[in-house]
Amino acid sequence: MSVTASTRALVLLGDPVGHSMSPTIQNAAFSAADVDGVYLAVRCASDDLHGFMRGLSRAGGGGNITLPHKEKAASVVDVASPAVRRTGACNTFWGDEDGRVHGDNTDVDGFRRALGSFVEGSPAGIRVLLLGAGGAARAALMGLLEEGADEVLIFNRTAERARAVARRIGGQKARVAPVLEGLRSESFDLVVNATRLGLGESDPSPLDFEILNRVGAAMDLVYAKKTTPFVRAAEALGIRATDGGEMLVQQAAASFERWWSTPAPVEVMRAAMKGSQAG
Ligand code: NDP
Repeated sequence: MSVTASTRALVLLGDPVGHSMSPTIQNAAFSAADVDGVYLAVRCASDDLHGFMRGLSRAGGGGNITLPHKEKAASVVDVASPAVRRTGACNTFWGDEDGRVHGDNTDVDGFRRALGSFVEGSPAGIRVLLLGAGGAARAALMGLLEEGADEVLIFNRTAERARAVARRIGGQKARVAPVLEGLRSESFDLVVNATRLGLGESDPSPLDFEILNRVGAAMDLVYAKKTTPFVRAAEALGIRATDGGEMLVQQAAASFERWWSTPAPVEVMRAAMKGSQAG
């Protein structure tokens, strides 16, 4: 597909964006699906976000939003999806013929799809420990509840943030664990790491799995070239574990589908992600 005057521009807006795998994943998908688009990453200051999102959308394009702008982006969109309204964050936007900016948070769908392929059986009825209370944790909590999780305990370094997330999204099914020690001897079907621990090479695991009685499986939202500390700690005890690579691919696939209204070539996107991790 060659770039012409009618090619749609889809742009990742964030700061920083230099580490992002999204351009590799999306351009591979655009080419495989033969859609007329090009995907770029642009470092964007907070004050410029509104102008970029409106301008790109009105020009027939759209894009993704990454750190630290996902919450601000939610206030820019004219038509917010239920996921944007419930999480207060937007990671995908596009324009319509009336010049309105649409927004979705495909981290929720990405998490749900990754969860569905990772847990054995249905996630309905499971008991979960969720570590973290930032944007990724909000998406995971909404996804877990929509998939029918029975109970989600949230632990975060800053307990007040965990309480705010539980209040906003959790309803009756989410509770806050003020200290990890208080979970000693508890059992969970799934533990999800939605903290940043693991992004840094020397980061410790966010959890000592040995304090818990039984853990069915462990899902890290962090992705890295090497095995993450959380996955390593789980596997050392024989617990089935996965990192955030599949969620990354699945949220990208969901964004592709919002822009192009056609199924995403997920296999191509997964291969592009793995290729760029190996590079
Ligand atoms: P946020 O900055 O919104 O939240 C960061 C979270 O990490 C907070 O809960 C914070 O706790 C916690 N945290 C930070 N440092 C520490 C520490 N030293 N010890 C314990 N907890 C800590 O980030 P996001 O929620 O947007 O992202 C979190 C992770 O999820 C990132 O690694 C990101 O790459 C990943 N992610 C993966 C996606 C995927 O598709 N796989 C999609 C989105 C995110 P506190 O509140 O106390 O500061």
